[in-house]
Amino acid sequence: MRKVYLDHSATTPVHSEVVKTINYYLTEAWGNPSSIHSVGRRAKKGLEEAREKVAAVIGAKPEEITFTSGGTESDNMAIIGGAYARQKKGNHLITTQVEHHAVLDSFKNLEKNGFEVTYLPVDEEGLISVDEFRESIKDSTILVSMMHVNNEIGTIQPIEEVGAITKEKGILFHVDAVQSYGKIPVDVNKLNVDMLTASSHKIYGPKGSGCLYIRKGVRIPSFTHGGAQEKKRRPGTENMPGIVGFGKAAEIVGQELESEMKRLTALRDKLTKGIEENISDIRINGHRTKRLPGNVNISFRYIEGESLLLSLDMKGVAASSGSACTSGSLDPSHVLLAIGLSHEIAHGSLRMTLGRDNTEEDIDYVLKVLPEIVTRLRSMSPLYQRKEACQQKECYEHVQ
Ligand SMILES: *Cc1c(COP(=O)(O)O)cnc(C)c1O
Repeated sequence: MRKVYLDHSATTPVHSEVVKTINYYLTEAWGNPSSIHSVGRRAKKGLEEAREKVAAVIGAKPEEITFTSGGTESDNMAIIGGAYARQKKGNHLITTQVEHHAVLDSFKNLEKNGFEVTYLPVDEEGLISVDEFRESIKDSTILVSMMHVNNEIGTIQPIEEVGAITKEKGILFHVDAVQSYGKIPVDVNKLNVDMLTASSHKIYGPKGSGCLYIRKGVRIPSFTHGGAQEKKRRPGTENMPGIVGFGKAAEIVGQELESEMKRLTALRDKLTKGIEENISDIRINGHRTKRLPGNVNISFRYIEGESLLLSLDMKGVAASSGSACTSGSLDPSHVLLAIGLSHEIAHGSLRMTLGRDNTEEDIDYVLKVLPEIVTRLRSMSPLYQRKEACQQKECYEHVQ
C-alpha cells in the first residue's frame, strides 16, 4: 500500500543529511563546547556554525539567536520574559484568538499575574484586521505577540504592517514563526520583529530543539540560572545533537525555499481543486492565497473528522483533524471556531500539510481514496441521508 504523509505541520521526517550531521557530533565531535581543549573546540565550532545557519534563514545576526528546547519554550520565554521586562511601563498585552497553545497559555499565565490581555478576533479567512489592531493599542501596551502562519488553516498574517506599527510606538513585538520559518520568506528586519520563534522538528530537524531570535538591544529575564551558555539567557550544557541538527536542517530548507514554495503551492492547489470538483458539501478553511504553500484545510459536512482520519490511515494516508493538539479531546479547534464555523462543521475538518517528500502521485492517490471514504462515511450518516431525502422531495426542512 502507498504511504502518504500529509501531516508536516505536526512534525516532519528527519532529513538524512541531518541524521549524518547529528551522528558526527555524537561520535566524533562530542566534546563540551565550553571546554577550551581541542575536543571542546571542535564542538564549539559546530555550535557556532549552527547558529550562523539558523540566523541566515531570517536575515538575523548569529549572536541574536538563543537555542532552546523548541517552539514552546521560545514562545514562553519571549512572551512571559518580554512582559516582565517591560512591566514598569504598563500591563497591557495584545495577541490573537488563533495562536498556538504555547502562546495562548503563556498569556493565560500572565493574566493570572495581573496583566491585561486583548485577544484579537479574525475574519472568516483567519486574518486579523490591522485597523482593529491599531485601535486596540493603549498607552499601557507593552508587548504584542502574533503568529506568522497559522498551524491549522495556513493563513499568513500581515506581520510587516503590524511590525511597522509596533516599531513606531516602541512596543515589543514577538512573532511565532514556527510554521513560516524555512517555508516562506521571513526577514526579521523587513518584518520589524523584536523576537521570533522557530522550531527544528517542523523543518526536518530533530525534536526538542528550537530557537528564539532576540534583536540586539532587547533585554528579557531568563527563566533558568546556572552557567554562561547562550549569553546566560538559557544556561546549561548545550543540546548539541539538537542544535547541529537544527542548523543543518535550516541550511537545507533555506537552499530549497524558492523551489519548494513553487512545488508545494502547485500540489496544494491540485489537491484543493480535486476535492472541490469531486466532493460536495465542503468548506475550504483559511485564506485562498495568503496561505502556507503546503496547507489544505477542509470541512466535510455530515462527517466526523476522526472517522475520516482513521479511514485515511487504513489507506496509508496520515493527516490531521483540525489541530494535532486537540485530537484526543472532543473540543473543536479554537481556530476553526474563531473563523466562525459551528461546532458540528468544525468537527468534520481535515488538515493535510504537504512537505518535501510528497509527489504528484501522492496527490493523485489521495484524490482517488478520499472521495470514496467520504461517500462511505456519509452513507452511514443519518443527517446526510435526511438531507438527501429532503433534496429529492424538494422540501425546505433543510438540516445544518
Ligand atoms: C509546533 C508549533 C509550536 C510548538 O513547537 P514545539 O517545538 O513543538 O514546542 C509553536 N507554535 C506553532 C505555530 C507550532 O506549529
